[in-house]
Amino acid sequence: MTAVPTRPSSNGRARNPGPQPQLDLLRAQRAAADFLTALGLCLDTESTTDTPARMARAYAELLTARPFQPTVFPNDAGHAGLVVVRRIPFHSLCEHHALPFIGTADVGYLPGEQIIGLSKLARIVEHHARRFQVQERLTQQIARHLEAVLDPPGVGVVLRAEHLCMTLRGVQAPGATTTTTALLGTLADDHRLRQEFLDG
Ligand code: ZN
Repeated sequence: MTAVPTRPSSNGRARNPGPQPQLDLLRAQRAAADFLTALGLCLDTESTTDTPARMARAYAELLTARPFQPTVFPNDAGHAGLVVVRRIPFHSLCEHHALPFIGTADVGYLPGEQIIGLSKLARIVEHHARRFQVQERLTQQIARHLEAVLDPPGVGVVLRAEHLCMTLRGVQAPGATTTTTALLGTLADDHRLRQEFLDG
C-alpha cells in the first residue's frame, strides 16, 4: 500500500461532483437493445424481451445514491482523538469499462470544533461511489467532501476494492485488490496519527 499525502488545491478545498447527473432511462434502454443485439443476444424471446429495460434500470440503480444531509454537531465533549469507521462496504462503476468495482472504505477524521454523525460517513462514500468513477478520484472526493463539511484538522480515507474489469477480463487476477489512500492535514503530516489511522 502506498500512502500519498494530498493537500487542498490552491483554488479551494472541495471538488465535489455536485448533484447526481440526470439519467435518461428510455434512451439507455434503446441503446441497451442495440448494444445487446450487437453482442449476439436475441431479444425476441420471452426471457429477453425486457432485458434492455431491466439493464437500463439496473445501471440507473447502480448510479443513484440516496439523498442525505451530512448533519454536523458541535464537538461539545472536546473529543480530540481519531474518529474512524472501518470496512464501510461500497460499490461503484469503473468509467473505463462500465463494470463494477466492489470493496470497503475506511474513513476517519480528527475532530476540530465539529463532529459528524457516524452513519453519514457511509453516506458520503455512497454519494460519490454511485456514479461512473475511477478509484483514485473516488478516494479524493470522499476526503475532500468530509473536509468541506467539517473543516477538521485531519482527514483520512483508504479504499480497497476488487475491479471486475481486472479480475474477470484483461489480466484476470481474481481476488486482486487495489488500495488507494487520501490523507489531508494532520493525517498527512503527523507520523503517529497517520500510523494509527493506517494500522488500526
Ligand atoms: Zn475498468
